[in-house]
Amino acid sequence: MIQFNQVKKVYPNGTVGLDNINLTIHPGEFVIIVGLSGAGKSTLLRAMNRLHEISEGEILIDGKSITKAKGADLRRIRRDIGMIFQNFNLVKRVSVLRNVLSGRVGYHGTFRTLFGLWPKRDIELAHDALRRVNIPDKAYVRADQLSGGQQQRVSIARALAQEAKIILADEPVASLDPLTTVQVMDDLKRINQELGITTIVNLHFLDLARKYGTRIIGLRAGKVVFDGPVEEATDEV
Ligand code: ADP
Ligand code: ADP
Repeated sequence: MIQFNQVKKVYPNGTVGLDNINLTIHPGEFVIIVGLSGAGKSTLLRAMNRLHEISEGEILIDGKSITKAKGADLRRIRRDIGMIFQNFNLVKRVSVLRNVLSGRVGYHGTFRTLFGLWPKRDIELAHDALRRVNIPDKAYVRADQLSGGQQQRVSIARALAQEAKIILADEPVASLDPLTTVQVMDDLKRINQELGITTIVNLHFLDLARKYGTRIIGLRAGKVVFDGPVEEATDEV
């Protein structure tokens, strides 16, 4: 599903973000990437949907090179990838439903978003997504009136409405309290199990990862220093 072949990323100022990464992530996997701040977690995730360019190597998504793709091909690959960020990246002053519908833009172009001309099927998909993250009653509430945990659920719903095959979550719980953190992580894990969406989550701390008994990739200074089941991970990861 996702393959990194000898990927290197050097920022323009000379900082090495990723150093010879070789990785294979299979369909339906739930992978947690851990590492201290600056280890390269965001750089790795952003490379996967080409939010930034890599310097060397190649990244394949479902067998297709996102590194080499252009135009419509690149948009088609990106449509399969839903992104979840620490700060939710919602449009604050519009409804939850419109935020979720924005996950459909890749299927129609921006015209429909501007004028709100959504086909019925899209609206149904958006409501289905809100049901799946347990906030069906929030569709017509303004996004910025929700709690942090609810806003993160909206961004998960947006990825579901997008019909993403891959979810990339960059520190999705870093700005949430401990209880909400567990709820959002449980949501991601449950959706991974129910829908088989390949899910990759960046986390600061290994202790949260232990609860999910899953594959851990440890990063340090842009290198993979551990890749295996969480039970085998030591605290140094
Ligand atoms: P985090 O630790 O949450 O991953 P950072 O605080 O390191 O993120 O980075 C925040 C933003 O600043 C990001 O957009 C990142 O690309 C950018 N950034 C981080 N480090 C540097 C740097 N040394 N020079 C320029 N930009 C940086
Ligand atoms: P993490 O997500 O694990 O905190 P990052 O991927 O944000 O780590 O950063 C990895 C390394 O790349 C760090 O040394 C960081 O300072 C550097 N970095 C990140 N973004 C930039 C940027 N835009 N310009 C220069 N250096 C950056």
